Amino acid sequence: MALRERISEHTYVFRSNMYAKVNAGLIHTPEGCILIDTLPYPEETQEIRHFVQRRLRSQVKYIILTHSHADHVYGAYLFPDAEIMGHLYSRKLLTTQTKPALAKARTVNPALADVRLVYPALLMEQEAAIRLGGATLIMRHAPGHAPDVIRVYYKEEKVLFASDAMMPIPYFAHGNIQDLRRTLQELYQVAPLEDLVQGHGDVLLRGEVKSVIETYLHYLDCVEAHVDRVLAQGGGKKALLSLDVEACGIPRIALEGLATQLHQENLVALYLRKRKARQKTSEKKAAA
Ligand SMILES: [Zn+2]
Repeated sequence: MALRERISEHTYVFRSNMYAKVNAGLIHTPEGCILIDTLPYPEETQEIRHFVQRRLRSQVKYIILTHSHADHVYGAYLFPDAEIMGHLYSRKLLTTQTKPALAKARTVNPALADVRLVYPALLMEQEAAIRLGGATLIMRHAPGHAPDVIRVYYKEEKVLFASDAMMPIPYFAHGNIQDLRRTLQELYQVAPLEDLVQGHGDVLLRGEVKSVIETYLHYLDCVEAHVDRVLAQGGGKKALLSLDVEACGIPRIALEGLATQLHQENLVALYLRKRKARQKTSEKKAAA
């Protein structure tokens, strides 16, 4: 069973118990519901559907997919009547990355046998808004975790859905650390704010947001400084992976013990990207 939490009058959060505490948001209006992401396993997304139909006696009119990653989009096919919204880049990423990943995941995981990817038809680039039954949702591009992340602000109830720009361990192996830093700094500015729903893990209250963002920014700086040091000293993989996630302020148990794995993926991705950039600069110098 996914955990259901009502965080304000018309806002619910469903948290996966089956994978990495993924959050899906639900906004209930007299004219229908808006769902922000789905849960990784159909069984848990079905619980949201039943809740909307049986308890709220409503239906999902829109689904906002905050990015193309599997754990957030797999349940969209369960709402064939909903309009799907996403970032302009999401269609390409769904095709090139999520689709092959699903084909592979299906072979080992029978619970995903029925999943079909659904592609957003409503696309945004920098900013967009949805208005339904008195609810205004303002969406903005928030890249870093992935190129196509969007965050969603529910104006009337002052709730920010930060997607995976905010998760118990910042993760940018498929994105860009600099973009993520900028996105996190922008999140400071969102006001007024009552609650912040992270892409994974706990909902943050207004008073916690600043210090959590600071922790995440510190983590990014710590990782980047280490990668720079390893590159400058000509160190290899062993030196690269010697940095413990806790040394950068993130508990090892974060995100159900996934922290160390995601941390190491961050280190490797940043190391490879920076090494490539250095090679390019030295080639340029040699050519000049
Ligand atoms: Zn995620």
